[in-house]
Amino acid sequence: TPAAVAAAPEDPLFGLMKAYREDPSDKKVDLGIGAYRDNNAKPWILPVVKKADDAIHNDPSVNHEYLSIGGLADFTSAAQKLIVGADSPAIREKRICTLQTISGTGAVHLGGLFLSKFHPAQPKPTIYLSNPTWANHNQIFTNVGLTLAKYPYFSAKTKGLDFDGMIAALRAAPAGSIILLHACAHNPTGVDPSQEQWKQIAALMRERRQFPFFDTAYQGFASGDLVRDAWAIRYFVEQGFELCVAQSFAKNFGLYGERTGAFHFVSAPGADASTAIQHIASQLAILQRSEISNPPAYGARIASKVLNDPVLFAEWEEDLRTMSGRIQEMRRGLRERLEKRGTPGTWDHITTQIGMFSFTGLNENQVKILRDKWHVYMTKNGRISMAGLNTHNLDYFAEAVDSVVRE
Ligand code: PMP
Repeated sequence: TPAAVAAAPEDPLFGLMKAYREDPSDKKVDLGIGAYRDNNAKPWILPVVKKADDAIHNDPSVNHEYLSIGGLADFTSAAQKLIVGADSPAIREKRICTLQTISGTGAVHLGGLFLSKFHPAQPKPTIYLSNPTWANHNQIFTNVGLTLAKYPYFSAKTKGLDFDGMIAALRAAPAGSIILLHACAHNPTGVDPSQEQWKQIAALMRERRQFPFFDTAYQGFASGDLVRDAWAIRYFVEQGFELCVAQSFAKNFGLYGERTGAFHFVSAPGADASTAIQHIASQLAILQRSEISNPPAYGARIASKVLNDPVLFAEWEEDLRTMSGRIQEMRRGLRERLEKRGTPGTWDHITTQIGMFSFTGLNENQVKILRDKWHVYMTKNGRISMAGLNTHNLDYFAEAVDSVVRE
């Protein structure tokens, strides 16, 4: 009976947001949720999104009919080109299919569900997740019945990539395993493999016949360069992998609440590749129909308008550089302040890590003091959302960190 259902714990991240909102202090700093903020700590509507939104609003042909099961076709084709490149062999050879999803989360879920049903290693294929990873990966893949395993990723000592540990774990993972890879701006660490390291990862995964599942939530947001942030995915496609990609437009368009994303499946090159992809697309459509019927239209319309218009696209790239540039400035600013104060420890990782987050190396106790005494909110693992920093709170935050590190 329902009375026998035990209470579940509150989601830690959304719990943190609530605690921040309820804190009356005027000094409070929100470094929890991964959402971009401008220099006044306010959400930022990208100017290009505003423009596209106005155009859609004034377009008399727009209505509230259902989209098709796979979503808005102009959006999915553009999303595909954005991630694998317009001249990708996967597009040329018609061996990629794309469905619009409920943002990145929905794409991760759809991919997980598909693999849980169709991966040849049945009844339960294993998916390897980086340690640590975006917390929701664990829940989503557990919910669809995959077996979870971990590969080492972050070195607490160097605050960089534990490349040897990662390679050793992938070498030991059974052939056919699914390997979840963050395409760029790894969440929560901000640490990515170099291109040379990606090549070694690909070579090993090919030898071990493993299946890459890319999660990309920060394309263009990480470096300000859309092509650079898609490099790993494009390299794996060029290498002829069968793979899939979960793509989010939450951060790079600032369309968080509009739930705009896509799931792509690429089959390996070969004579039957395009037939294979049609079969896969048809099965994905059945899964999608049973789960959400068809995706929401609003965000996809906005993204589609920008992605398909060269002038708007160029403006979008400008907006991406604004966001990534401000974050990089905050990274430099924080490192500089901590080094100037002589705060114990090394702080170069603040500027070598990339994207929305930095894994500071602060421990759980220090995080607690920051919250209780300084009204600074971040996740227990010491991750900070760089976008929560600005020129008004940077000195205060550096002072707070300096103090708790010395405590
Ligand atoms: N994957 C990763 C690694 C993420 O960091 C995020 C956003 N926090 C997502 C997926 C999906 O987010 P959304 O569903 O909002 O697109």
